[in-house]
Amino acid sequence: AEILLKDREKLASIGQIVAGIVHEVKNPLTSVKGFLQLLKESQPHPYLNTMEAELEKALETMQNLLHVSKPDLHEEPFVPIDLCKELTALLFLFQEKLYNVEIEWDLRDSERKVVGKRNLFLKAFFNLVKNAIEAIEGIQGKGKIRIEHYYKSGRIHIKLSDTGVGISKDKLKMLGTPFFSTKSEGTGLGLTQVFTTIHKHGGDISVKSVVGKGTTFHVQLPVK
Ligand code: ADP
Ligand code: MG
Repeated sequence: AEILLKDREKLASIGQIVAGIVHEVKNPLTSVKGFLQLLKESQPHPYLNTMEAELEKALETMQNLLHVSKPDLHEEPFVPIDLCKELTALLFLFQEKLYNVEIEWDLRDSERKVVGKRNLFLKAFFNLVKNAIEAIEGIQGKGKIRIEHYYKSGRIHIKLSDTGVGISKDKLKMLGTPFFSTKSEGTGLGLTQVFTTIHKHGGDISVKSVVGKGTTFHVQLPVK
C-alpha cells in the first residue's frame, strides 16, 4: 500500500499531465450533460437516461483522476467535521438503494471533531462504502456492512466491515496504488483517494481481509 518516494515523484509529473487532460475533457462533458438534461425535459426518451448514466460514469472517473493527480488543487478550507454525523447521513442515502446489502451502524453525533476538508472525507467514505457494496455484489447473495467507532488516545477509530468477496494476500499489498483494480469496470482510483485523504489529515488506515469471508477497513484520525 505504500508508494515509494521515487514512484511518488514519477506520479507527480504524470499527475500534471493527467490534470490538464482532465480539465479539457471535463468541461465539454459537463456541458453535454447539461444539454442532455434539457433535452430530457422537452423530449423524454429512454436512451437519454442511459446516456446520462454513462456520462455520469465518465465524469466520476474524471473527478477521481483529478483527486489523485492533483490533490492540492482542491482549495477547500479546513473545518471541524463530525465524522459520525456525516457518515450517518451518507449511510442513509446508500441504504435506500440497496436490496441485498444490509448496513448496520453504531454511530452517534459527537463533539469530537476531525479538522479537515469535508468533501474529501465525504468522498473517501463514499468510496469505502461503495467498495464494500461491490464486494458483496461479488458474492451474488445477501451480505452485511457494519460500521463501528470508538475513541482512543485523541483519535477516532472507524471500522468498516463487509461480508463480501475478500482480498487475497498478494492483492492486499496493491491497495492504494493508482489504477489497481480487479473489477471489469473499475478505475482503481477510489482507494488511492481514500489513502491520500486519510494520510493528509494525519490519520492512518489498515486493512484485514479473508477471501470468501470479508474485509475490514480500520481508519483512525486525530480529533479535537
Ligand atoms: P475500484 O473500486 O475502481 O476497482 P478501488 O481503488 O476503489 O478501485 O479499489 C481497488 C481494488 O481493491 C478493487 O478493485 C478490489 O479488488 C479491492 N477492494 C477494495 N475494497 C474492497 C472490499 N471492501 N472488498 C474486497 N475488495 C476490495
Ligand atoms: Mg472503488
